[in-house]
Amino acid sequence: MTEIPTFVTHLECGLTGKHYPADQLHGLSEAGRPLLVRYDLDALKHAVTKEDIASRAPEFWRYREFLPVRRAENVIRLGEVMTPLVSAPALQRELGCGEILVKEEGRLPTGSFKARGLALAVAMAKELGVKRMAMPTNGNAGAALAAYCARANIPCDVFCPDDTPEVNIAEIAIAGARTWRVNGLIDDCGRIVGEGKQSVGWFDTSTLKEPYRIEGKKTMGLELAEQLGWDVPDVILYPTGGGTGLIGMWKAFAELGEIGWIGPKRPRMVAVQATGCAPIVKAFEDGVEHADRWEDASTVAAGIRVPQAVGDFLILRGVRESGGFATAVEDDAIEAMRDRVARTDGILMCPEGAATLAALEKELASGRISKDETVVSFNCATGLKYPLPTGGDFIDIKQPVDYGMF
Ligand SMILES: *Cc1c(COP(=O)(O)O)cnc(C)c1O
Repeated sequence: MTEIPTFVTHLECGLTGKHYPADQLHGLSEAGRPLLVRYDLDALKHAVTKEDIASRAPEFWRYREFLPVRRAENVIRLGEVMTPLVSAPALQRELGCGEILVKEEGRLPTGSFKARGLALAVAMAKELGVKRMAMPTNGNAGAALAAYCARANIPCDVFCPDDTPEVNIAEIAIAGARTWRVNGLIDDCGRIVGEGKQSVGWFDTSTLKEPYRIEGKKTMGLELAEQLGWDVPDVILYPTGGGTGLIGMWKAFAELGEIGWIGPKRPRMVAVQATGCAPIVKAFEDGVEHADRWEDASTVAAGIRVPQAVGDFLILRGVRESGGFATAVEDDAIEAMRDRVARTDGILMCPEGAATLAALEKELASGRISKDETVVSFNCATGLKYPLPTGGDFIDIKQPVDYGMF
């Protein structure tokens, strides 16, 4: 058994600050809120250098000192890559804005950034002896859970709203997860897991209901800073459902700042939602700390169709502390932007990713993003997972080809 040098000291309730011991299985805190993993950052700083990190394999396990897994045999790998930052120069010209960089998260295993969170959640479940996992999902998280559980040999049950894209349901089922279609939304699925976990013996892997998915998503912030030469962009546009990534990146920048690897500058964090499901935007505008459940949630961007987030206050805290904001865009604008950026720059965005660029256009017009700010947009999943408009014109090879039509 190889020990990985780790620096976890304890876990902490994100709301009350109450401490909980490391190396034990935890769900939510007693206050019913997410737990955050805390590290001895001073010891970490003396144990690893930027040069050490640079010399390691290009995968997110290169940040292992910033992660909670203690034993190497619990690390589960499916070929996680450092995802590229791709520029969108033509869109940038058309919008007349600062540099646009798209973080292409669809290159990760199972085709979405959910791989980051679930790689960590399943590794820690393995380390802490979990026998059976369960999760409500809009698709991508379930696919990642199913794949990492298959690899870790942990059975899992995955609950999807019955209008989840078929491709997601198929990829969950093919990885051997018990796959359930539920005639409700993701929080209805979550209720099934919550109410059944005692009697069935499930470990509840719902977004933010276990502490380690945030740590996995934190690697987006670590990786982004490293790719920018240990610096941060002016603005990060993040399509926000449960908010794990926004919370995780904000935590990454805090930890990097504390050990002096980045300076005092922080990106403005912008939470992007769809107008058909915008609880965080409403709470931001109302100036409150918690968001009400959004009724009749509906959007083409399934990954951000989350009517209620248990980490709402952590999302809002990150957005406000960073000087950012929350904004919502229409489904029509999402689809138009997806089609546009595919043509202008050859980047196939998922609807959630396209929402961030639609938000960029909207907020350049409103003036909340200025024309000289560098923005990073997250393309969270491969656009190929989603239904695309059909195209193509017919050629009948039984007739002479009319070359005049080209
Ligand atoms: C899960 C998901 C999101 C939302 O991510 P959170 O960190 O949970 O807010 C956005 N886009 C896609 C494609 C997703 O799968």
